[in-house]
Amino acid sequence: MNPLSYLKMSLPLFDKIKPEDVTLLLNQLIQENTKQLENLLKQATFTWDNLIEPLEILENELSLVWNTVSHLHAVDMEVWRDVYQDNLPKLIEHETRFFQNRNLYEAYKKISVSKEFENFSCERKKIIEDALRDFELTGVHLPEEEKKEYAELQKNIGLLSHHFEENVAEATHAWVYYTESEADLAGLPVHTVSLARENAKTKNQSGWLFTLDFPIYFSILSCSERRDLREKFYEAYVTRASEKGPFAERWDNTGLIKEILSKRYRMAKILNFENYAQMSLQTKMLKEPKKVLDFLNSVLLDVKAVSKKEIEILKDFSRKKDGIELQAWDVAYYREKLKSEKYHITDEALRPYFPLKKVIAGLFQIVYRLYDVRIDEEPTSVWHPLVKCYVLKNNHNEVLGYVYFDLFTRVEKREGAWLAAGRSRMNIGTPKQKQIPMAYLNCNFDPPLPSKDTFLTHEEVLTLFHEFGHGLEHLLTRADYPSLSGSDGMPWDVVEVASQLFENWCWEKEALDFISDSLPSDLYTRMLACRYFCSGMDLVRQLEFSLFDFELHCNDESNKKININDFYKERRERCADISIPDYNRFPLSFSHIFSGGYAAGYYGYLWAEVLSSDIFLKFKEEGIFNKVVAKRYLDLILSCASACDFMQAFIQFRGREPDINAFLHFRGIKG
Ligand SMILES: [Zn+2]
Repeated sequence: MNPLSYLKMSLPLFDKIKPEDVTLLLNQLIQENTKQLENLLKQATFTWDNLIEPLEILENELSLVWNTVSHLHAVDMEVWRDVYQDNLPKLIEHETRFFQNRNLYEAYKKISVSKEFENFSCERKKIIEDALRDFELTGVHLPEEEKKEYAELQKNIGLLSHHFEENVAEATHAWVYYTESEADLAGLPVHTVSLARENAKTKNQSGWLFTLDFPIYFSILSCSERRDLREKFYEAYVTRASEKGPFAERWDNTGLIKEILSKRYRMAKILNFENYAQMSLQTKMLKEPKKVLDFLNSVLLDVKAVSKKEIEILKDFSRKKDGIELQAWDVAYYREKLKSEKYHITDEALRPYFPLKKVIAGLFQIVYRLYDVRIDEEPTSVWHPLVKCYVLKNNHNEVLGYVYFDLFTRVEKREGAWLAAGRSRMNIGTPKQKQIPMAYLNCNFDPPLPSKDTFLTHEEVLTLFHEFGHGLEHLLTRADYPSLSGSDGMPWDVVEVASQLFENWCWEKEALDFISDSLPSDLYTRMLACRYFCSGMDLVRQLEFSLFDFELHCNDESNKKININDFYKERRERCADISIPDYNRFPLSFSHIFSGGYAAGYYGYLWAEVLSSDIFLKFKEEGIFNKVVAKRYLDLILSCASACDFMQAFIQFRGREPDINAFLHFRGIKG
């Protein structure tokens, strides 16, 4: 059986997909698509039906394969690394060739000025307009020499970014702390200790083995009573992939950052932009650098005093409690301690009330109450025994989409939490070619211990809701064309709207009743009371990352000589009120902007939150399960914003432009 058929089945047969089949398959598809494109361009006239629709179908087939490979690489890096690395350049080259094809560009242009165009649906118009923009942003109009240079830059940046992420992953996994001393466990939550014990067992060791995986790292920083250990872990974490720390220079990303920045700048210059930030904003909702900087600086102005006060209180607390001058590695610990003293609550204390099974079942009920979508488990082939697949159906029993949950941390898995598109919705062609959307939801929660139930902290519940919010956008889309399906057609600075919006339900009593197990009402009251505890500090941290990213990409060639760590520290000092040690090398593991899609776009997290808070305020005003509001949100934004102008969709839903006050309110900054 042809391996493509395993991927094209209603759900992929993961047990049959082998890395060794992929390269041949991709080569064939790329060759076939290139040939088909040549044939399509031989036609005398161009229309939607004879050019754009066939291209949507062809490119969809390719992404079917590549999405699967990318996903498997992210969850099983050891096995899929080589095949991913070997094929990544080909995919980038194929895409660049497509968008640098002058004849194709002219054909799109002809359709865009044809009579036919005026009668097109918004969706069709947007596909053509977005494509024309992307042709231009890939240098279709450039002379041959520059076109070649641009293509080369694009490919190299892809490879450098991939290398960057590999370095971070290697550096993270290489560091471990092994101990046989019980004194090292002081203050740690039971589940962290059990996990360290399990880690040691797998290595036939008798003590406890701690890694730098984020849940463990965070647990040490926020709970360990051993200050020396907190500092040890902090140092290891913030020097990952740098010239400092225990693996000095082994996975140092300094050189890669310089190369990535200088290549991005060169790309922008070739296309006549002042800098990369300006170029990057072409595909975003906020179109000018000044707008982004004004937005970030105005939020900073609003929050600065709040965060300064919070850190002063923490400093005072650590001094009085333990005679300690607060350092960067103490912040999470004293924050947690003070929270516990003030509100008699800790993240860990909430864990027993959120059994994973109940959280998932409750999440599905919330989706049903909002959107009349039922979600059930769907037995099928998976890539790991702990992975589950779910099917989403409407009230007519029609399948709307599938989502896989891969929730637990594994050595071979990428860190963090993310939602990846597996397939996009498609409903086009004659005869109709239908494709049901599918997505992969990935987290890195602590793995279940043998014969024990898994429980989540409230923070982890928020993460699950966040990723599922992305999932809703991808799975409930009504766009017929894959290139505009779910977040694919969205400006990059609004892709977090659906995910952040869905998090809000985790704070509401009515919704918590679905996802928690007998959460006592006084605990809920305390949970709410401390929701905004240190929220100024959290916001300032995001501003620091956003300003670092955006101002860095506003730079010119001077980036060649820049000391990236100093540049970061300057932004940090402008924002935060606690200094970091000289050895801090945070930028060297800032994957979002050097290997993810957030370059000159990290601010999007905050901008999207302005929009999502304002949307949620409407739910708050009318009831969080109000069917009318939910339906309007589904109809006007969630299911179709990718296929129209986001601002217009927002205004239709809200009756006005976005108002920043809802954001400041839900962040606890303004009443
Ligand atoms: Zn997100």
